[in-house]
Amino acid sequence: MADMKKAEPPKDPSQYKGIMVYLDSFDGSLTRAAHEMIGVGRKMADKVKEPCIGVVIGDRVASMVDDAGKYGCDEVYGFESPDLSMYRSRPFTDILSGMVFEKKPNILIVPGTKNGRDLAARTAVRVQSGLTADCMEIDVEPETDILIARRPDYGDSTMSEIRCEKHRPQMATSRPGTFEVPPYDDKRTFKKEIRKVDLKKEQLREEILSFKPKGGEDITVSKVLVSGGLGMGNAEGLKLIEQLAELMGGSYGVTRPVADLGWAPRDHQVGQTGKIVRPDLYIAAGISGKPQHIVGMMDSKTVIAVNKDPEAEITKYSDYVINGDLYEILPVFIEELKKRKQGKGRK
Ligand SMILES: Cc1cc2nc3c(=O)[nH]c(=O)nc-3n(C[C@H](O)[C@H](O)[C@H](O)COP(=O)(O)OP(=O)(O)OC[C@H]3O[C@@H](n4cnc5c(N)ncnc54)[C@H](O)[C@@H]3O)c2cc1C
Repeated sequence: MADMKKAEPPKDPSQYKGIMVYLDSFDGSLTRAAHEMIGVGRKMADKVKEPCIGVVIGDRVASMVDDAGKYGCDEVYGFESPDLSMYRSRPFTDILSGMVFEKKPNILIVPGTKNGRDLAARTAVRVQSGLTADCMEIDVEPETDILIARRPDYGDSTMSEIRCEKHRPQMATSRPGTFEVPPYDDKRTFKKEIRKVDLKKEQLREEILSFKPKGGEDITVSKVLVSGGLGMGNAEGLKLIEQLAELMGGSYGVTRPVADLGWAPRDHQVGQTGKIVRPDLYIAAGISGKPQHIVGMMDSKTVIAVNKDPEAEITKYSDYVINGDLYEILPVFIEELKKRKQGKGRK
């Protein structure tokens, strides 16, 4: 069995200062989840009046480093090497934990993407701290400098608040899509440093032979989402939902039971155990509005519910409610949109 040592908290936690934000990237650009984390880090840094420190790792990082500063970091450290063009557990953990030892941040937040979750867990072990994963609320208590990390628990609507009183840095990963992307400010000034990394052979034990992108659309970035629930009655109903989404230039979403039944891929599930979305327009057709679904779409700008039941919970979260059968209502939308596209309908 591995030799397990008890993690020792630092003797003087007050020497840990600043909010460090690991900035996840893909194909030479920061991910949306990374931008969200800059926003969270910026807000906390302003509250405690300490710097927001970004860390970017990749092949060529200059433009991402600039992005990080313009979106809100006060200091950005970029680490580059051709061997870092794709995520690799060992060297990324070496670099991020090295930055923790060097800068001693009080808080370290990491986007909860697949790679971010791997990196955060490994870094937490390396720096001997705890980690609150999958948070939907991340804040700091200015009087105590304690990180307030809240995440859903016990299956449904319970929110747990987790505090890491003794160990440093206090660490959390986010649930991507939960937080807003902060505004870009071209005039923002910030400190930056790009370091060339020379990786040793033992840091590169895994070899990337090929990379196949998963494909499919990312519903968290869609401006319009048309979602279908069990009210569709069968898998065929999804065609109607998809058709409307396509005509509106958006994507489609589903509830969890629809994905469980295999009517739609899991990547399209909206909600607590699916994706958190915040489109400009969310159409919920045949969806009852259980809390686990609502939590995934409640920040949508405008919500239209189409439901047979005028009392359905979703109506409380909707700006417009169309009471009726989705098989009668959605075709009317589709026909009208088709006419408009052909220039025959009302403008
Ligand atoms: C731990 C846990 C995690 C979960 N995570 C998620 C999650 O991430 N996402 C999620 O969505 N759910 C999640 N759920 C499930 C959630 O609790 C609900 O069961 C689910 O959201 C209900 O899906 P629904 O609205 O499609 O179905 P229902 O609740 O069955 O609602 C169907 C609705 O369709 C209406 N309807 C029926 N026929 C028509 C018609 N022809 N035209 C118009 N309206 C019609 C009905 O009036 C009803 O309001 C989770 C549950 C648990 C326990």
